[in-house]
Amino acid sequence: MQQLPLLASSTQYAQQLRQGFRWLRFGPALEAEYRAYCSDNEYRRVLWFAAICLVLWAGYWLFDLWRIDAALLDARQRALLVPLRAVRAAGTAANLLVLGCALWRCPMRVLRATLTVMGVTFSCGAAFAVYVYKLLGVPHETTVLVVVMLGLFLPFAISLWAQLLVALLYLACVAALAWTAPLPEVAAQMWRLDVELALSALLFGLAAYWREYQRREQFLHRGDAHWLAMRDALTGLYNRRMFNHHIQQVMAQAQREGQPLALLLMDVDCFKSYNDSQGHLQGDAVLQQVAQVALACIGRPLDIAARVGGEEFAVLLYGSSADHARALGQSLVAGVRQRALPHGASTVAPVVTVSVGGAMLRPDDRAQTLYARADQMLYEAKNSGRDRCSWEEALQA
Ligand code: GH3
Ligand code: MG
Ligand code: MG
Repeated sequence: MQQLPLLASSTQYAQQLRQGFRWLRFGPALEAEYRAYCSDNEYRRVLWFAAICLVLWAGYWLFDLWRIDAALLDARQRALLVPLRAVRAAGTAANLLVLGCALWRCPMRVLRATLTVMGVTFSCGAAFAVYVYKLLGVPHETTVLVVVMLGLFLPFAISLWAQLLVALLYLACVAALAWTAPLPEVAAQMWRLDVELALSALLFGLAAYWREYQRREQFLHRGDAHWLAMRDALTGLYNRRMFNHHIQQVMAQAQREGQPLALLLMDVDCFKSYNDSQGHLQGDAVLQQVAQVALACIGRPLDIAARVGGEEFAVLLYGSSADHARALGQSLVAGVRQRALPHGASTVAPVVTVSVGGAMLRPDDRAQTLYARADQMLYEAKNSGRDRCSWEEALQA
């Protein structure tokens, strides 16, 4: 007999955890799920962030107006005020763009693009403002540039790689200003600033990497735990808890929409004697095979197959007519038989067989009454010789 892995707990989350994600990227499906998970509340957080940035940026603009008296400047110095106003205006425009995007909930990639543009205009703009202050001899604080670097690595919508790219542009911008500074002492100060900023980028970048790594790891553990809480560890099918939850939901939906709903209960025949003769491990492998047969018979989004007891399985078919559901019940019986799993101790056949009982949802049913009728049919199948499917109308007829 084909030996299957004993635990079907190897979820995509667990697999990704084993594979690792050093480059902060999962496989395509998980990556999409992770991004959707991250974008919960993202708009609101970006909105707050952009509002705070707007206040700070406007504050610096006012500071320019208050500190720089154009009347005291010579023509060359006055010429610097034009690009300074331009970068202040560009930063404000980018900031308003982000605010608008977050308010009107633009697609996430548009929001990311605007945030990236804001990062570039703010960082290069702030560096340019400090450079102008130095050239004009206006007292100023350069620590603001380190704060801007920190802001670039805050955990908002854009990825760490985009943050790093913006940080590199920022460093290049400060280097370009140092390179072209007309006064040697200003050039030296700008070079020193660039080194300080490079060191802070390294630290903030490492912290951001670590934080993103942990967040991704948490996402995988959470997804894995959620998956396992809904599943049966041996077969990977839904467990009894999930079945109980799902049946309530689809019953309500079927009754609301006037759709048929079928419940099939399947029980392995003479399984105790199988365990006694072959051992429990081999018995477990049989349960996995039977689970695969159950899984193969469901197809629609609301159908589920679950392991509801030791060697008992349930299949819920949403929107299936009684005839179709009955045919699927027969194919469950035939499918297990076709697997030809030898069972020398069975009183029914030389191979493993199952019995199936089925019932259709009635308008006044509750989950318990539907289950009880399918169970009654299962006993009917057992009592009439096993290795068969019994359907409720057959009993009523
Ligand atoms: P019937 O044809 O009437 O269904 O007889 P049966 O022997 O299948 O039914 P019974 O209820 O007497 O025995 C069920 C057996 O299923 C007993 C138990 O050892 C076995 N079983 C329950 N859960 C597991 C499991 O997870 N693994 C294995 N290997 N066996 C299990
Ligand atoms: Mg049983
Ligand atoms: Mg049994």
